[in-house]
Amino acid sequence: GAVAPSNFIRNLIDEDNRAGKWQGRVETRFPPEPNGYLHYGHAKSICLNFGLAEAYAGACHLRFDDTNPEKEETEYVDGIIEAVKWLGFDWGKHLYYASDYFETMYQCAVSLIRAGKAYVDALSADEMRALRGTLTEPGKDSPWRNRSVEENLDLFARMRAGEFAEGSLALRARIDMASPNINLRDPVIYRIRKAAHHRTGDAWCIYPLYTFAHPIEDAIEHITHSICTLEFEDQRPFYDWLLDALAEAGHFPRPLPQQIEFARLNLTYVVLSKRKLIQLVEEGHVDGWDDPRLPTLIGARRRGFTPEGFRLFAERIGVSKSDSWIDMSVLEESMREHLNEAAERRVAVLDPLKLVLTNYAEGASELCQAPNHPLKPELGKRDMPFGRELWIEREDFMEEPAKGFHRLYPGNTVRLRYGYVVKCTGCDKDADGKITTVYAEYMPDSKSGTPGADNYKVKGNLHWVSAAHGYQAEVRLYDRLFAYPHPGQRREGDAEGLERSFLDDINPDSRRVITAWLEPSLKGAAAEDRFQFERHGYFVADRRDSTAGAPVFNRTATLKDSWAK
Ligand code: ATP
Ligand code: MG
Ligand code: MG
Repeated sequence: GAVAPSNFIRNLIDEDNRAGKWQGRVETRFPPEPNGYLHYGHAKSICLNFGLAEAYAGACHLRFDDTNPEKEETEYVDGIIEAVKWLGFDWGKHLYYASDYFETMYQCAVSLIRAGKAYVDALSADEMRALRGTLTEPGKDSPWRNRSVEENLDLFARMRAGEFAEGSLALRARIDMASPNINLRDPVIYRIRKAAHHRTGDAWCIYPLYTFAHPIEDAIEHITHSICTLEFEDQRPFYDWLLDALAEAGHFPRPLPQQIEFARLNLTYVVLSKRKLIQLVEEGHVDGWDDPRLPTLIGARRRGFTPEGFRLFAERIGVSKSDSWIDMSVLEESMREHLNEAAERRVAVLDPLKLVLTNYAEGASELCQAPNHPLKPELGKRDMPFGRELWIEREDFMEEPAKGFHRLYPGNTVRLRYGYVVKCTGCDKDADGKITTVYAEYMPDSKSGTPGADNYKVKGNLHWVSAAHGYQAEVRLYDRLFAYPHPGQRREGDAEGLERSFLDDINPDSRRVITAWLEPSLKGAAAEDRFQFERHGYFVADRRDSTAGAPVFNRTATLKDSWAK
């Protein structure tokens, strides 16, 4: 395959390899919390972590970071597994659940207590906050900071046994209340939560906090490079402090996993926060987690976006150390680029207008041949029936042509793609002046692929579907979910004090359902078959609503960016 461009993480791994730090071993992980469906941002992280494992012949673990009992569900675990597989990545035997490490984590906490590096605090959360200090002021010690090791061990064991109420006690790391890094001011590492966990049930009533659990998970799995987003940069000193303390206590060998931060994906015209995605689904602004407009990976799949397109996108945007915004067009263009190559061509008339060829025999028909892919002759041609009555696009006819209009108008000649050259002779209108039928005469010696075809030089080249052979089907024209690049953010010209909600910025035209006329061969499309409908864009047979012989099509993307200014 193509050589992935270099980035600062690859440079760092190369340095480690030159220094012999891991004997060439590269082991990364993708650690989703199973509290929602994966989104486009996760795809960046998946492509990065699994991509590094592929590039260095290493391994990438799929690890469910399920240490928080309240919001996690098995439904999400299944959805995440399906999405990572769909993107085409393979974790081999490396599928893990952080909740399997609860006992080890507990033992690690006990070791910290033994080493005088953790204590049981009886302050309330508010009291702790009050003593934590600020960026400019050091914190103050808790009155419980100097309990004896024995007392701490006893209390912690009784916390585990369920003797205390939620919030009454917490285990804190004992580091430095005066540290300039607030994350090192004795962070809480265990709390009491009398909540059932989706995998461990009622086995535990104390749960580790993420910042304590995550480094331990990495160390247990012998991760070499633990890649996370920039907001964890301030946590890195604690990550290192904790693993160092646990290495000292004999829990883990050195070298220890290294945390590396990269910039998360920020994409215009969508929201990538689970909280906002949940709100869109729960309040019915979209049609469930797999709505093709939603930036979830199951939504992307129904939209017709492809794993190859996501990989191309990830490669293109690269990996950096500073936050920036990526324009939605970069993602769409990546999809177009893959689909242009991968999708066979078909014909669909989305806004049908009847064209009658007055000199073509009534009831007669014949076959035209259309190439399945202009760049891949090996994909062959298919038959398209042709007859006296055809459907063309309403916008391809003008009774009085505008300047530069080269399509159908009375007196003009155009080619019906893969068929004949026709000359327009007139049209019918209804009482409101709306065009109901267009008339033309065809040139019998002009059929595409025959020697006479070359004698005709025309500017217009229209697509069409035979009225007698085509069929009608539901087509959904999807567009961007939000009408503005930064949903919910103030815009130039906003009155002072105006607050916007991302919900106000939903694009009212993000979904239009139409009945189109499709060429007969599309009837046989299977769910998830992708096509370019000529002159219109890329479409996919919906994987949820299509039935045998009756596919429903979703527009993945128009052929060109219609949002570019
Ligand atoms: P949210 O904050 O919306 O709940 P999250 O980041 O907590 O999402 P996780 O399930 O913890 O979601 O994420 C799993 C992995 O995906 C993490 O390593 C995280 O860094 C990465 N990730 C999440 N969002 C993005 C993003 N926008 N760009 C790149 N990576 C991301
Ligand atoms: Mg998270
Ligand atoms: Mg998060």
